[in-house]
Amino acid sequence: MDVARVKKDFPILDRDMGGHRLVFLDSAASSQKPRAVLEAMDHYYATTHANVHRGVYTIAEEATQAYEGARAKVARFIGAPSSRGIVFTKNATEAINLVAHSYGRNCLAPGQAVLLTEMEHHANLVPWMMLREERGVELRFLAVDDCGRLVLDDLDRQLDGVGLVALTAMSNVLGTLNPVARVTEAAHAAGAVVLVDAAQSVPHAVTDVAALGCDFLAFSAHKMCGPTGIGVLWAREELLEAMPAFLGGGEMIRDVRLDRWIPNEIPWKFEAGTPPIAEAVGLGAAVDYLTDLGMDDVREHERALTGQAMSLLTERHGDDLRIFGPPDPGDRGGVISFTYRDVHPHDLSQVLDSSGICIRAGHHCAKPLMRRFGVGATARASFYVYNDEADVEALSDGLLAAAKIFSL
Ligand code: PMP
Repeated sequence: MDVARVKKDFPILDRDMGGHRLVFLDSAASSQKPRAVLEAMDHYYATTHANVHRGVYTIAEEATQAYEGARAKVARFIGAPSSRGIVFTKNATEAINLVAHSYGRNCLAPGQAVLLTEMEHHANLVPWMMLREERGVELRFLAVDDCGRLVLDDLDRQLDGVGLVALTAMSNVLGTLNPVARVTEAAHAAGAVVLVDAAQSVPHAVTDVAALGCDFLAFSAHKMCGPTGIGVLWAREELLEAMPAFLGGGEMIRDVRLDRWIPNEIPWKFEAGTPPIAEAVGLGAAVDYLTDLGMDDVREHERALTGQAMSLLTERHGDDLRIFGPPDPGDRGGVISFTYRDVHPHDLSQVLDSSGICIRAGHHCAKPLMRRFGVGATARASFYVYNDEADVEALSDGLLAAAKIFSL
């Protein structure tokens, strides 16, 4: 990947940070946006905007085409058989809530449990905990070993009596890439459906829902070069057909009488109210941008950079640095969570910020996982298409500067 050329596509990287360049190492939280996405959204508002699915005038029809065109692009990007299975939501969190609310409350058989993992983001924990509180559904958790991998030795027993498995394809803390296809196969054999939280995987590697074999897939546009305010739930169409609507209002109905209402067809049945139209256009442009880069190349670039970063940081900082997650870069995405001596991650982040370097510090919305590893917080550097070795060098130098400041 020609990172120097890619960097030029992201206007924010030209920003001067008090005499330093911007070194953005927090794409796991939200990625930056290429000019192509900004221009697509600007062009849409400047030339086309009207509400969708309603007007019969020219720009309303064009807006509808742009919105539905984005849906088709997303379907192709994840290997979905048709765009009928693509529901636009607010973000990955809302997509998971939709499944917990609609499928969880109505399609799980009485007594069926939900199987999660210890490494889930709160977005894939709390909706199920709400279901537990409301309906008494039993929640089970696959354990995580000391290297940050899922413990699957006992999977078949854990699946006994489970109606739904919900797991992340990649941990936003440990970087672990989970064997989703293997879990899905075992889950299906046990009669359970599978939801994949793909918030950290769709932006970084080829996604093919057929190969994953899952039933639901949730992700957010803002982590994949697209705008905030739009996420995606893909689901097998027969499941969406069987599931009751989530939110009520305009768009999601076919007919309303004072004594009853009839839902719209899928996917619109799950899209109440005016949808995020410009955001869908931006997501479509992000999909085009990533497709042009080539998702295999994106993955290879991040795997190589993560490997280099792990070697360089370990070589330079030795035992001062504790890196969490699998030791082999082939088993992880472009996320490195670490602690550095006894410097609090927030202090570390602040010192790095004074050199224009953005990393994340905190619990990363995965508090049960933090407890599992006996830490309250970690620092996290995460990579994307616009990061290179110079960014890793900057991070390493920033750590040395922090050590000096804290007189270590
Ligand atoms: N799951 C994972 C693994 C994530 O990393 C995130 C975002 N940090 C989410 C879900 C939630 O994404 P969003 O905030 O866009 O809904």
